[in-house]
Amino acid sequence: MFERARVGGHLLQNGNRKKNNATIRAILQWNRRPQMAGSPPRVVVVTSGKGGVGKTTTTANIGMCLARLDFKVVAIDADVGLRNLDLLLGLENRVNYTAIEVLNGECRLDQALIRDKRWVNFELLCINKPRYKMPLGFGGKALTWLVDALKKRPEGTPDFILIDCPAGIDAGFITAITPANEAIVVTTPDITSLRDADRVTGLLECDGIKDIKMVVNRVRSDMIKQEDMMSVLDVQEMLGLPLLGVIPEDADVIKSTNRGYPLVLKKPPTLAGLALEQAAWRLVEQDSMKAVLIEEAPAKRGFLPFFGG
Ligand code: ADP
Ligand code: MG
Repeated sequence: MFERARVGGHLLQNGNRKKNNATIRAILQWNRRPQMAGSPPRVVVVTSGKGGVGKTTTTANIGMCLARLDFKVVAIDADVGLRNLDLLLGLENRVNYTAIEVLNGECRLDQALIRDKRWVNFELLCINKPRYKMPLGFGGKALTWLVDALKKRPEGTPDFILIDCPAGIDAGFITAITPANEAIVVTTPDITSLRDADRVTGLLECDGIKDIKMVVNRVRSDMIKQEDMMSVLDVQEMLGLPLLGVIPEDADVIKSTNRGYPLVLKKPPTLAGLALEQAAWRLVEQDSMKAVLIEEAPAKRGFLPFFGG
């Protein structure tokens, strides 16, 4: 099986026996639980500047993967105006209380935390009811208070707190990044998204967030080969950020969004699902293996994605 695995060529030199061995080692690593680098809770904001590049998709899927790897995860939907993390997770009908009610003293924090039934160590916290604007007075201080309250829960502190950031660089962005000590910048390989990602990276650094990694989403290897799309290496050179994951364009992402069923839970796994799983693994261990583009094997040989280390 491993011999037939096809490795995306953009980030690796031409394959040789040594590389193949590394690939197999990296795949075998998946039989163990990743070792957490850093001490919990790791508060990670998922941001991008530009909208529609895949922040919520990344938050939902990486969060679900981390929960499946047995880490305690709380995902906070800080995209107050255009809340949709609950939809991607299929939890929209279970949001009775939100952080605003907690802050107003109308309910307890655990009442506002929605526990996923598939992976009970995954919980979602929404800031506000849908179609509400950012509540007056809700800002970085309030979000930091909520994160501190999550750390002090009697059930124990979460391993990861993921914050899904709104698009743009205004008040909502500032609020979302305030409690974070790490960031994932999501970008697509196009010039508008890259410029925004670069701007956001500068703002994160100004805010004292030094641990910034990037996810390159919606990559199409066919377009890269025809030089119609920037390669991941080009993106990396432009942004100068360590690579957490390379997610291919995959129609299954859209299907899973519409069904409220995170892609990483789908069986058999899909290309983008595997890439997101790889990104989650790398987030836990910081850099256990190289992130490479997972590609479909040539048609006749059937499905076979994979990546190396
Ligand atoms: P953001 O949170 O940055 O606004 P979303 O995660 O909501 O972006 O994604 C925007 C849209 O792009 C969604 O419809 C989603 O299904 C689609 N999408 C995201 N990533 C991919 C991908 N790798 N392949 C195909 N569609 C994608
Ligand atoms: Mg979003």
